[in-house]
Amino acid sequence: MSNQYEITKVRALEILDSRGNPTLQVEVFTRGGRGLGMVPSGASTGEHEAVELRDGDATRYAGKGVLTAVSNVEKEIAKPLIGLDCREQAKIDEILISIDGTPNKSRLGANAILGVSLAVATAAARCKNQPLYRHLRSQKQYVLPVPMLNIINGAKHAGNQLAIQEFHVMPVGFTDFLEALQAGVEIYHILKEVLVKRYGAAAKNIGDEGGFAPPMTESREAFDAILYSIEEAGYTPEKEIVLAIDAAASEFYTNNRYLIDGHQLTSAELSDYYHRMCKEYPLFSIEDPFSENDFDSFATLTKRVGEQVQVVGDDLFVSNPERIQRGIDIGAGNALLLKVNQIGTLTEAIQAADLAATNQYGVVVSHRSGETEDTFIADLAVALSCGQIKTGAPARSDRTAKYNRLIEIHHELGSNARFAGSSFRFPLTG
Ligand code: PEP
Ligand code: MG
Repeated sequence: MSNQYEITKVRALEILDSRGNPTLQVEVFTRGGRGLGMVPSGASTGEHEAVELRDGDATRYAGKGVLTAVSNVEKEIAKPLIGLDCREQAKIDEILISIDGTPNKSRLGANAILGVSLAVATAAARCKNQPLYRHLRSQKQYVLPVPMLNIINGAKHAGNQLAIQEFHVMPVGFTDFLEALQAGVEIYHILKEVLVKRYGAAAKNIGDEGGFAPPMTESREAFDAILYSIEEAGYTPEKEIVLAIDAAASEFYTNNRYLIDGHQLTSAELSDYYHRMCKEYPLFSIEDPFSENDFDSFATLTKRVGEQVQVVGDDLFVSNPERIQRGIDIGAGNALLLKVNQIGTLTEAIQAADLAATNQYGVVVSHRSGETEDTFIADLAVALSCGQIKTGAPARSDRTAKYNRLIEIHHELGSNARFAGSSFRFPLTG
């Protein structure tokens, strides 16, 4: 083994995420360079996610400190990794899983494990002197993802009455990533003016992912304002810009009913509601339409609208190959939302994406509502050529860092990349 790849030191720090909560930064040192990984954190987390370890010590950060996870990296994880080749991601991730020894990474913490896993990958890319996406997957041609820009925030990510958590525009009818991003950004700015006119100045306040958090109560108000803004910005709905939502329905589900737009709906009625929205608006992607354990309702909706519309499992699948396989077996959903911290290692996250893609499921690489300046997921979306990335509004550095990294990759790859555009669901087969 050439020495430059040998891991010489692993170090962790407690840093802050975009909501001001503690999270981990992990550094992996080799003779060939240093790798860095920063760990994101969700708010509307799925109950089956790998466990994020928090100190629970109420005297620091209201119990949200991560010093135990930091110590787990330095005292338990570091030593077994010293001397290993940082290019051996799968082997290292297996070691991390086995040191932890639990099925949900609850002993060492998925946050501790993921930080190390990501930092190992970035160290290897540095040693090889390659961009991260190329280290992750070496290809001649890459696909640049359609950005899902979350321009209206609701539910847990905002302080308004919207039941639906995220309202996105997806600029699909463009020939390259830059044009698409520009369209999304222009719509975002027009939307701000439209919202202020309709709801007053407070409507331009923003939520956790940089989208506006206007005082709306019904989903239609959000769809209408976005549709109007698309046209005002000079773009054509459906042909150039389609809409997407993340209902995050577990958050408005209690006692077998979904509380949305002032109504208590059964899952069948909620399915009708989505069906109507897809008819009335150019809505082409629905994430977490039902609660996180209702595989059957996902399957029914997918059968009903799945030809035209992407039905994405986030809290349903939690990026976990076992749950994805369960979905595939019964046709629950037709796309995976991929969040690296839900599963806790890079190797397992890539396995999850591959499992989805080989079963004709779409794949959306995603941020968390609590983010950092780390741009890993931009490279991951390009490496996987999955065709879609969900990383918030084009505002606040925790979100724009990812878009800016994609701009850089666009320029770097030139004709060795094409934009997924309207083939976002199946970018490799069209
Ligand atoms: C989501 O639900 O898709 C999301 C990004 O939110 P969070 O990170 O809060 O789970
Ligand atoms: Mg979600």
